[in-house]
Amino acid sequence: RLYHKQANQRRDFHFKLAQKLCQKYAVICLESLSMKAMQQSHGKKVNDYGFAAFENILEYVGRQMGTKIIKVDKFYPSSQLCHDCGYQNKEVKDICVHEWTCPSCGIRHDRDRNAARNILSEGLRLLTA
Ligand SMILES: [Zn+2]
Repeated sequence: RLYHKQANQRRDFHFKLAQKLCQKYAVICLESLSMKAMQQSHGKKVNDYGFAAFENILEYVGRQMGTKIIKVDKFYPSSQLCHDCGYQNKEVKDICVHEWTCPSCGIRHDRDRNAARNILSEGLRLLTA
């Protein structure tokens, strides 16, 4: 019963978050995560985080509210590309690297922020392609 309660709470939270995001944004770009790869690196726990479940809910709510949900291919190297100059840094593939300096243009990146900017650019490119 506790498990079901938690599952319902998470589902409710996902719906509220999806509605909030769709109210605020006309276009949302996201990286479709490879569950297999995530499970290999983090163990079974990843399922509990419900990434895939949230993705589905976001797409459902997006359809209802008229927000475009654009999925960027999981093979797109969002965390390796320097958003500022386009250099691909394979050294930062490891998710333990939280910050890095671009060897080409010298700019300092926060891993997640840089990846998010790349996902947005790629998503918008796909939208207008
Ligand atoms: Zn750079």
